[in-house]
Amino acid sequence: MESRWSEAEARRAVARYAERGIEEDLALRTYSARLLGTDPRLVLHGGGNTSTKTRMRDVYGDEVLVLCVKGSGWDLATIEPEGHPAVRLEPLLRLRALDKLADEEMVSVQRANLLDSGAPNPSVETLLHAFLPHKFIDHTHSVAAVSIADQPDVEEICRRIYGERIACVPYVLPGFGLAKAAASAFEANPHVEGLMLIKHGIFTFGATARESYEHMIEFVTLAENYIAVSATGRPKARKQGDVTLPEAALLFPALRGALATGAQTAWPRRWIFDWRKGPEIEAFLADEKLSACALRGPATPDHIIRLKGKPLMLATPMHDALDGWAEGTSRAIRNYVAEYEAYFSHQNARAGGRKKALDPIPRVILVPGIGLLGVGKDKLEAKIAADLFEAAMVSMIGAEAIGRYEPIGEDDQFDMEYWSLEQAKLGKSTPKRLARHVVMVTGGAGAIGAATARAFAREGAEVAILDIDSRAVAEVAKSLGDNALGLTCDVTEKASVEIAVAKVVESFGGVDILVSNAGTALTGMMAEMPEETLRQSFEINFFAHQNVARKAIAIMKRQNLGGVLLFNVSKQAVNPGPNFGAYGTSKAALLALVRQYALEHGGDGIRVNALNPDRIRSGLLTPQMIEERAEARGVSPSDYMAGNLLREEVTAQDVADAFVAQALMQKTTGDVMTVDGGNVAAMMR
Ligand SMILES: [Zn+2]
Repeated sequence: MESRWSEAEARRAVARYAERGIEEDLALRTYSARLLGTDPRLVLHGGGNTSTKTRMRDVYGDEVLVLCVKGSGWDLATIEPEGHPAVRLEPLLRLRALDKLADEEMVSVQRANLLDSGAPNPSVETLLHAFLPHKFIDHTHSVAAVSIADQPDVEEICRRIYGERIACVPYVLPGFGLAKAAASAFEANPHVEGLMLIKHGIFTFGATARESYEHMIEFVTLAENYIAVSATGRPKARKQGDVTLPEAALLFPALRGALATGAQTAWPRRWIFDWRKGPEIEAFLADEKLSACALRGPATPDHIIRLKGKPLMLATPMHDALDGWAEGTSRAIRNYVAEYEAYFSHQNARAGGRKKALDPIPRVILVPGIGLLGVGKDKLEAKIAADLFEAAMVSMIGAEAIGRYEPIGEDDQFDMEYWSLEQAKLGKSTPKRLARHVVMVTGGAGAIGAATARAFAREGAEVAILDIDSRAVAEVAKSLGDNALGLTCDVTEKASVEIAVAKVVESFGGVDILVSNAGTALTGMMAEMPEETLRQSFEINFFAHQNVARKAIAIMKRQNLGGVLLFNVSKQAVNPGPNFGAYGTSKAALLALVRQYALEHGGDGIRVNALNPDRIRSGLLTPQMIEERAEARGVSPSDYMAGNLLREEVTAQDVADAFVAQALMQKTTGDVMTVDGGNVAAMMR
């Protein structure tokens, strides 16, 4: 691993931050923290922490010695100077003399001594940074360092790799106890340049930001080299032979359903997946010795709140025995849940019986032949779980290559998992109304489709949009954030729908809500219309909806979690307009389709509803059409658009909000809702 320190870049950072009144120590601290944070071999997703000791003026104008240490909620990859809040150092150092310090007291003293009372909570490892005398301190759970830290004979190996340059600190839960243990280990070996925290990670320090950072790079490189030289061969993927594995689109929905029924109903039922596969993962899963490591415990205690103590291991699915696999999977999940509950009650009794159980659902699922799945309440959480486990896998491979992977045991896992300060990192927010739901919107790049996708995303749903316009669909998806999926799809082509729906399932694990919105308005007098036009209208306004709906139903039935199908029908279905026969007849057929699906799948818990919007500015109602129609009626375009009982224009946003409302109405199916500002002729009867 190369040092990425650039003197020129460092100077530029100092100059840039100086404009904001940030002094040099903190500027360089921020610069090198980012160097660590942007290398996934060192730091992932809010892991690691960094500090500097410097002088700052308080509100009285007095110069005080402060510790600027990473604040909670900041990620080293994107950290700013404010991400290292300043805490008065003196009061922190006095804590060292205490025999005991409760976590709440520790947090309270740290907060009370912030120069800025509005700053985020300083890291749970603040006291460790405070008790060491060095000006700059860097801490990571580097993949290679963890391979070393998780060895039974870590001290011996460290001596071999680092000589006298590093001291080992026995495993202690982070916080006051670990801070004291680390300070003692340093004081017993005051010449060392870093500390190996057994079963945890590595600290390095220095008089300058560069020195501390480059010690980290050097020590991690030494660990990497040691692993490379001592390794007795890398795992190799098993030859798959001729076996064709079933597609994810068949497996994941069943797995999602099994997660829902595997635990008590009090726990959340819906989970989102993030799928990883590849030769490295396959090799790991194919090697029994390695995959057994995963069940031994987390590579670093930092992972446990996101990964739990261990992943769920499933059998390889066989193409011709899917039902058997699904049954085996349900059984495996029930066993996992039962084991987790037993772990909780046993450990909670040991720890005083005051903890409240967390959900028993695995956060990583391993399926040899298929890959690994991160599991989360949303796509981001699922991705983080997958990233952390991929890193842990590399640590485990390294550890087994040089000795034996031996992480923290069950007691320590529980203490970390249920440590209030760790749980605080996950934050507590009221879940949004459609959180944990995957919504698929067709015609997603059009005015109504894009507004609908946005409205569902705002309610917390994971969004996939399908549209025939590749460029537009990519743009809309991008505007919806990193986790939205934009897919090019011609909904009139069965094969195209098949591929798109499979991608949605591969991306999120399943589908909970379909908004079947794509449509077209072909015009002409019925008697003069070429048959081709009429057939084309039915292809798009009827058969395309059927293409998507039947795929969605198949997935929903495999998930066994109910579901919602929503259709954009249009008022033409009940209130025909001249020249719109091709549109109206196909939409009337679509309305019948909606009712048919409602009838046939109510028993599966699948609700099926329709919207009848009218006069919405969109690709189907262009400014030119509005102009012409207004003129034909002798009114202004804006009066034409507001030509309804409420005298207000109806917008794509109104339609989007109505779709969301229908998705939320738990006891409504077979419904047709008008979104037209009121039109007596289009009222349902
Ligand atoms: Zn740590």
